[in-house]
Amino acid sequence: MRFDIITIFPDFFTSIFSHGVLKRARAGRLLQIEIHDLRTYTHDRHRTVDDRPFGGGEGMVLKPEPLVEAVESLEVTPKAERDPRKESVILLSAQGARFNQATARELSELDRLVLLCGRYEGVDERVNELVCDRELSIGDYVLSGGELGAAVIVDATMRLLPGVLGNEDSSAFESFGQRDDYFAEAEGPPRSTHGSGGILDYPHYTRPAEYRGLGVPEVLAGGDHAAIRRWRRRCALEKTLRNRPDLLDHADLTQNDRAFLSELTRIKP
Ligand code: SAH
Repeated sequence: MRFDIITIFPDFFTSIFSHGVLKRARAGRLLQIEIHDLRTYTHDRHRTVDDRPFGGGEGMVLKPEPLVEAVESLEVTPKAERDPRKESVILLSAQGARFNQATARELSELDRLVLLCGRYEGVDERVNELVCDRELSIGDYVLSGGELGAAVIVDATMRLLPGVLGNEDSSAFESFGQRDDYFAEAEGPPRSTHGSGGILDYPHYTRPAEYRGLGVPEVLAGGDHAAIRRWRRRCALEKTLRNRPDLLDHADLTQNDRAFLSELTRIKP
């Protein structure tokens, strides 16, 4: 998969994509990331990318011409003919739809993703109309630029590409993952994680078995696979109820899950 990022701060990305999984995936040619300096697409001596807002108000706005020309130079299919299953041009924006794991899964099916980073008060709206397929926000807060958002989207998306994580299972079965055979009834040793069905991950433990007076839950030391699955599922449900109850509205829950949750809410209303 190829990612293109258009920004006025290309240096921002030099170290952010050079660590761990991302670095390995780039070296192994599983993905390609190209950073483009917006100022390359200006035509004046001062390489101007912004201008004052029509209608007045604070701050500056990114001009449409350099951004549109930058996208065109990348030879993505023009918006009207673009196949949304292959290519997408996305504007980072606090006004966008909120990016989440489902969006990351959707984007990871593409061959090509172009990300436009806004700055100042934002981007001339015609850029959105002319070249962008959608606007995405990484959360309900205002950042000073789209660069962090672009990095978040690249990171969350690329780790879902086949071959990027060593263990193919690891991405499908963590927080927000799709449901699989996590049921206590499933056979064999528990996997590193189970398909969460849209809830949060369960707690993880490693050695030492005792640390500063804290042990590891006993069930994890035993060989009862079904008991481990059940324990993990319950912890995940409990944590989701505590930290992100909103996720439970759309989670893929079993009868047992629901029974356990109502037991929990009865105990701790
Ligand atoms: N005036 C805008 C904020 C501009 S912030 C508003 O109130 O909505 C400058 C740039 O930062 C934006 O153009 C966008 O590219 C980026 N940005 C800010 N918050 C963001 C968020 N939550 N998600 C993604 N990008 C964001």
